[in-house]
Amino acid sequence: MVDADIKKIIRQHLEMDDFFTGGFIPKGHPPSQQQSETNKPNDNVNVELEKIADEVRQCRQCDLAAMRTNAVPGEGNANASIVFVGEGPGADEDAQGKPFVGRAGKLLDRIIDACGLKRTDVFICNVLKCRPPDNRDPSAEEIISCLPYLQWQLELINPQIIVALGAHAARTLLNTNKSIGQLRGQFHEYYPGLGRPPIKLMATYHTAYLLRNYSQENRKRVWEDMKKVLAELGLPIPQRGRR
Ligand code: URA
Repeated sequence: MVDADIKKIIRQHLEMDDFFTGGFIPKGHPPSQQQSETNKPNDNVNVELEKIADEVRQCRQCDLAAMRTNAVPGEGNANASIVFVGEGPGADEDAQGKPFVGRAGKLLDRIIDACGLKRTDVFICNVLKCRPPDNRDPSAEEIISCLPYLQWQLELINPQIIVALGAHAARTLLNTNKSIGQLRGQFHEYYPGLGRPPIKLMATYHTAYLLRNYSQENRKRVWEDMKKVLAELGLPIPQRGRR
């Protein structure tokens, strides 16, 4: 192996480490400028999203309603270019009524940060809006009764890219049974409805899976997936450095 190859490998590993520990600085615009470019106010969509959130909080469509402390409709920027979609709330999310606020959420925060973005730049929600007991997998019936809320949110926000976190989100939105290993790493198309153009969807590992399987290989895969998302959006790929 020549010196240049070794240096490249070392650089990739350092890059990955920083990606998950928050040592990145975005190339190009400072974050505040980036935010003003992506966060155009959109009052009407905000109002409509709040209507969905109210409906979700009153929803009694499935058995999960009786078990919840709080429904978790989702939150974020009504004008987001990226919508992250997870599986369903866990214990912390159920307690707070907010998506991705537990350990898996903290890792998602670090990924968003490493992309040179803020949580307030993106929209974060789940397929299921209520917590399945003991964090079991969502049932088909639960997904079917909850899905219209997610479809409605995606139709309103109309992001440039959906990032599906994990198999449940990816399979639900793409209407497929393929594994996350088969789906991740490439763009797919989500169809928001008749007469609407498809939205690009990147599937990647769920952050809870990543926490349980925190290998260099898996972190590299998520980082590669997110780099594709940034490139597709024309956003700068953050480089190593200290903030
Ligand atoms: N896992 C999810 O899928 N969603 C959350 O909101 C939190 C953890």
